[in-house]
Amino acid sequence: MPRRVYIETYGCQMNEDDSDRILRLLGDLNYVETKEADQADLVLINTCSVREKPEHKVYSALGRYKRLKERRGAIIGVAGCVAQQEGEKLLDRVPYLDLVIGTQAIHLLPQMLERIEKQERVCETGADPEGKYLTAPRFRKPQARVKSYVTIMQGCDHFCSFCIVPYVRGREKTRPSRDVLEEVNHLADMGVKEVCLLGQNVNSYGKGVAEELDFPELLSRINEIEGIQRIRFTTSHPQDLSEGLIQAFSWLDKLCEHIHLPFQSGSDRVLKRMHRGYTRASYLEKVDRLKGVCPSIAITGDVIVGFPGEEEEDFEETLSLMRAVRFDDLFSFKYSPRKGTRAAQFEDRVEEKVKQKRLSILQELQREITYQQNQVLEGRVVEVLVEGRSKQGDQDVTGRTRSNKIVNFRGDIDFVGRLTPVHITKAYQHSLRGEIVRSS
Ligand code: SAM
Ligand code: SF4
Repeated sequence: MPRRVYIETYGCQMNEDDSDRILRLLGDLNYVETKEADQADLVLINTCSVREKPEHKVYSALGRYKRLKERRGAIIGVAGCVAQQEGEKLLDRVPYLDLVIGTQAIHLLPQMLERIEKQERVCETGADPEGKYLTAPRFRKPQARVKSYVTIMQGCDHFCSFCIVPYVRGREKTRPSRDVLEEVNHLADMGVKEVCLLGQNVNSYGKGVAEELDFPELLSRINEIEGIQRIRFTTSHPQDLSEGLIQAFSWLDKLCEHIHLPFQSGSDRVLKRMHRGYTRASYLEKVDRLKGVCPSIAITGDVIVGFPGEEEEDFEETLSLMRAVRFDDLFSFKYSPRKGTRAAQFEDRVEEKVKQKRLSILQELQREITYQQNQVLEGRVVEVLVEGRSKQGDQDVTGRTRSNKIVNFRGDIDFVGRLTPVHITKAYQHSLRGEIVRSS
């Protein structure tokens, strides 16, 4: 009888990919995934500590699973950034917790589970200088999935003053290109059509490893892999966005016209205190270069409001940068102090109600821009990679444009996995509606 694993994932795409790799690894140990926590023999919470809110969710989730331990003797574990940050303290604080998996310990999971069978409580948060934690177990059979993440590097050397990532994910570590290419080839064999390459700062790929490809070279090697039809990546740090990568948008046919380029603030004064390593002008210059090389490129970003010392004028500069770039979408956050980071010691904190007000103003502006950017596509024919049934109507399928916008249209489930020309008939705030273009 296979055992059942339930996994709950918080945070970014890196965490989603880590959960996916954990599931593949557990597949080799005769575990199958269940979506019902109540039926699980193993419950894992894959956590995020980038802001305070997701961090708190861990403890409420653990509270929910206590009874599963009592009723069914399920193994309860925590993975991800909170696991790395808290380590043994989590075992002390939560007596029914069995397992703490640090961010560089995923590959040790089989040995950890063996130790738990011997009634141990296990915590692994050590560093893995060889980078075995970046490996991705193979699938056993072709997958229904159309797209997949592929982790190509992890960690960060930037130390932005607000950010916990370098402390919980460690320094930048490049995954060997041989492994990455092997994985993408394997995914193509399993039916995957689109890969999204992941790293906290993909543009640093290969940095410091003399014999390694750089990021644009890696992209061009993936571009040659048969069966893969689209390539995306995230995240690129503006300071490291190289001319080589900008140019790649002009000559790599599978590289989709979309870049996620967090800017965090439009004010030089704030950017400097954030230790971001670029200015408003240099950010805008790179955006201009990107639009020059690839006029249809969609640009998305991350922004923080209420960073310590942010004045009304600084915030206005953020809004004006948004108007200048016209982002297709934005992830916007209120600054959340993280213990151990430099900014947590800054005393000129912005009041919560001011942060909330700025966030609302910024989000309102972005809603307008996003809607206008979506409207630009009305009347055009775009290429859509069909991903599955739409939640909108039972006759509909859903997919994404190369610029990463969601399109719903009437179509057969057989379309899944195909690149399909779609005529956009209506733009909405979060998606587009279209009609399939039939070849005559
Ligand atoms: N490496 C990416 C970059 O710098 O471009 C970002 C990775 S980070 C996990 C994702 C986003 O979370 C950041 O871009 C930032 O906007 C947000 N973030 C990180 N630390 C934060 C904090 N202390 N408070 C609020 N937002 C934060
Ligand atoms: Fe965090 Fe800055 Fe590194 Fe992004 S670049 S992960 S924000 S330290």
